[in-house]
Amino acid sequence: MEVVVASGKGGTGKTFIASNLTYFIWREEGVAVGVDADAEAPDLLVALGGSRRRINAREVRESRKARIDPGKCTGCLRCFEVCRFNAVDVRGGVPSIIEEYCEGCGACAIACPAGCIDFYVARTGYINVDESAAGPIIVTADLEVGGRNTGDLVYLAKEEGRRLAWELGARHVVVDAAAGIGCPVISSLAGADLLIVVVEPTPPSLKGAKRLLDVAEQFRLRAYLILNKYDLAPDYAEKVAEELGIEVLGRVRYDRVVAEAYASMEPLLARDPQHEVSKTLTSIFKHLLECVLH
Ligand code: SF4
Ligand code: SF4
Repeated sequence: MEVVVASGKGGTGKTFIASNLTYFIWREEGVAVGVDADAEAPDLLVALGGSRRRINAREVRESRKARIDPGKCTGCLRCFEVCRFNAVDVRGGVPSIIEEYCEGCGACAIACPAGCIDFYVARTGYINVDESAAGPIIVTADLEVGGRNTGDLVYLAKEEGRRLAWELGARHVVVDAAAGIGCPVISSLAGADLLIVVVEPTPPSLKGAKRLLDVAEQFRLRAYLILNKYDLAPDYAEKVAEELGIEVLGRVRYDRVVAEAYASMEPLLARDPQHEVSKTLTSIFKHLLECVLH
């Protein structure tokens, strides 16, 4: 099954949950595949100790970009007028395309009376596959600096994750989604079996989770809740659970060992398996494997 861990807002502990879940599955089943779908700031591999061995790295070229033939350009600036992405720069009456901003929509080429705009395919980023130091195999969507087609890259990373899971006999793929509800998150949710929403007891986190669940509903995804750092505001945590109205998988308390584990690049379950927070995680993940993902 494909399990997406998402939050609708950054900083809630999503990667903490995703990395420990991937590690837990690896420890229980001997094999686990994780996909880091946060292409702009991937850190799932880091949370699992970094790379022990690079298995594969593939360049992805999926980004269509416009270019202007200066020899044919008449300087009418129709391209500048129609571009909604501010990707046409004009200096001294001469237009040029800013590659990082260009979405390849084609409006400028349609508008250009001189027919001097065509397209090329630029690098979107990389799909890296690593054996993490902690054990699980991690597929990372790594966006080119200034790149934008994160949805495509996430789609390809998930495809690679599914292929590897099939090849290695892994029963589950854990996807660590990007924060928010943008294109990469939508790609993360597409085709998944289950969503775990990680929420902290704050109004922005609740708001983000509600928006995320609205998107997930369109994919008819089963959704479950993990209340992270719930003890920082226990009453509000219960309000979050009530307002979201989805099954609560568990409540994880705040503890500085979480930050310490992250700083040492180790999943908490490996670093300190007897700690109270590790015991909570173990109980949540056991229930998930035995009662939800069976
Ligand atoms: S629309 Fe075409 S001809 Fe006009 S300025 Fe742009 S590139 Fe040049
Ligand atoms: S292809 Fe679209 S985004 Fe790119 S320069 Fe032309 S109008 Fe702007």
